[in-house]
Amino acid sequence: MSTHCPGLRPLSLVLSLVAAACGTSTASIGIDDPSPDTVGTAELTSSTNSTCAPSTVRATYALGGSILAPWGVMQGYVLVKDESIVGLVATRDAVPCGAAIIDTDGVIAPGLIDLHNHVAYNFLGPWTAPRPYGNRNQWQNDPAYAAAVKAPYNAVKNAGHLCQAQKYGELRALMSGTTTIQGSIGYACQNGWVRNVESYVFCQDKIRQNVLPVTGLTAADATKLIQQFDAGTTKAYLIHLAEGVDDASRAEFDHLKSLGLLRKEVVGIHSTALTPAQLTEMGQAQMKIVWSPQSNLALYGATTNVPAALAAGVKVALAPDWTVSGTNSLLAELKVADRINRQQWGGLLTDAQLLEMATTVPAEIAGLSEKIGRILPGHAADLVVVKRNGKEPRRALIEAEQTDVLLTVVGGQAMYGDVTMLGTLGVSGFDGVNVCGQDRGVLVRDATVANGGAETLADVVTTLTNDGAPLWPLSGTCPAPVMQAPAPTP
Ligand SMILES: [Zn+2]
Repeated sequence: MSTHCPGLRPLSLVLSLVAAACGTSTASIGIDDPSPDTVGTAELTSSTNSTCAPSTVRATYALGGSILAPWGVMQGYVLVKDESIVGLVATRDAVPCGAAIIDTDGVIAPGLIDLHNHVAYNFLGPWTAPRPYGNRNQWQNDPAYAAAVKAPYNAVKNAGHLCQAQKYGELRALMSGTTTIQGSIGYACQNGWVRNVESYVFCQDKIRQNVLPVTGLTAADATKLIQQFDAGTTKAYLIHLAEGVDDASRAEFDHLKSLGLLRKEVVGIHSTALTPAQLTEMGQAQMKIVWSPQSNLALYGATTNVPAALAAGVKVALAPDWTVSGTNSLLAELKVADRINRQQWGGLLTDAQLLEMATTVPAEIAGLSEKIGRILPGHAADLVVVKRNGKEPRRALIEAEQTDVLLTVVGGQAMYGDVTMLGTLGVSGFDGVNVCGQDRGVLVRDATVANGGAETLADVVTTLTNDGAPLWPLSGTCPAPVMQAPAPTP
């Protein structure tokens, strides 16, 4: 998103406002109510005899459906004004006057937060590794990987088109309900679509990432990092840790420890090779893990010992890694995690916990839990709406296919979704995109992005295609495969 403060993006919404008569009776329920059916930042006035409520809360629009609220599922409306959520109300009558209303008949969830990706690679489709590897160095040095992945990536890079690659990857994320992502390339061409968590977000820049091997970290690097941790200028440091299944992978943890970097700010991406004893040390240090099961299984035939990590008190977020060895999106990765949970771990994780791994936990890891990850007044209006399909709402989100995504909202701005809903919200200038046979709209052009903000989706596709890129459709495979690699042995 754009980086001016305190706002995020100038809203381009031109709303068709709903004019309605207003009633007189008053109801007010505070945010501390244990099972509220109405929550707002100010007293709400509602009427049983009107179609809207006069209110001190000013909402621009309201989305109705099954809301995944912090206290549970709530039938009602999420009120949005500018970049923020300003209230939750149980009935249409309680929606403040003047707000446009959409009854989505779907599930309204916090936007998904993807804390591990390599966004600019995500124009590529899945790569089938010729053999299981022991660690990340092995596949990175495999000629098969070089030919299938590095060659097309470098062709785009050498043509100077990584901005287009980054944009394509961000659009893919948006189309699956992701509103915040990690692993961007840090060029001026980002900040227009999903939030880039390691960039300047919410007027702060306190997240660092390192894609290089842990073993490359020096004592001087560690000293600098520890100073940043102690000063509070770095809240999260994300690094690939123990990615593999062999002793060399495990030794990365020992190196980190020798540098004094078993710190609560350090987030171990993957941590696949770690032993229960090492995970216990992580827990004692209040470290975190980002878990990418599909990528782990595709490359190594095994994944992180999440039950041991959780038992040790390590916070675990879920993320897709990238399209090359992982999944199309965090929404797709939820299905992989769900299957492993049910088939390998006896349902250890509840549906609520699985969804927390994609919302509240990554928000907390990123130090942004007061801004994103929950549907609460005062939080950014980062939302995803999916079809309910007659299911329990949390299950509906876990099982949602790409075609089930009806709307993705970032900072109050509807960025992607059903074209009728976009129209109701007054969104114009979106590009049409076909998702597994269904028409959707996606806001690609962004005048606030200096570098390439005027490009259409067709422009981006043409640019990458002319570079010889084997473009994987933004919708991935229809329907998405649940898991592309063999399930791990228990
Ligand atoms: Zn990675």
